[in-house]
Amino acid sequence: MLIENPYAELKFILSNRFGGVSVGEFDSLNVAYHVGDSKENVYYNRQILLSKLESEKLPLVFMNQIHSNEVICVDKTILQGRQEVEVQGDALITNCPELALMVMVADCNPIVIYDTKCRILGVVHAGRRGVELQILTKTIQKMCNLFGSQPSDLYGYIGASIRVCCYEVQEDVYSVFLQNEYLAMGVVQQGEKYFLDLVRLLQMEWCRVGGLESALHICPICSSCCTDFYSYRRERNCGRFCLVAFLKPC
Ligand SMILES: [Zn+2]
Repeated sequence: MLIENPYAELKFILSNRFGGVSVGEFDSLNVAYHVGDSKENVYYNRQILLSKLESEKLPLVFMNQIHSNEVICVDKTILQGRQEVEVQGDALITNCPELALMVMVADCNPIVIYDTKCRILGVVHAGRRGVELQILTKTIQKMCNLFGSQPSDLYGYIGASIRVCCYEVQEDVYSVFLQNEYLAMGVVQQGEKYFLDLVRLLQMEWCRVGGLESALHICPICSSCCTDFYSYRRERNCGRFCLVAFLKPC
């Protein structure tokens, strides 16, 4: 589904698991090659998504996501004639219009960042490790350093992801979070159980780096509760959904 936003030049889609050609546990709009699905079906699914952005021939940059805080700045020179390019890391930024950036998830947080003044686009993959490593902050800082972005000019969107209702963690995880004054604010205790609220931590990060609270929009969907989305926690062997974003030329 195209996500409505106030900026005519910013287009992005949050996919779900419907409308594709993959079968079995990948049924049906899986966008990830690395999960064991047929390459042809994944490629076709990606074309279906890009066509919903009303721009079928858009070249696409996606990531081999490794739960790091690696932020990669890309432009069209990376394509070298190819329609799809994979880079290794967990966030992408670009100042190029007509270059689609994709982040794939199944419970982790997919994030779009847009500098509404300098017209810089970013996408971020932020799971538990990414939040620990503050990849959102690193991405915003890189936009500021490379392009002169001001955090107060940023628009942000967090797509469907596993939420505090479902993200129970064991002691190995919550003890690490509780030892850190900042991360501890993302731990919710219910009786004997501990849950992580990564969206809360991402909101705090956004504001701490200078983003406006009102400019960060949060999709209300928990990917583990809602079976319209792939969920690693719920399914283990499953596809990936995505946020894919691009800038129209102006
Ligand atoms: Zn849930």
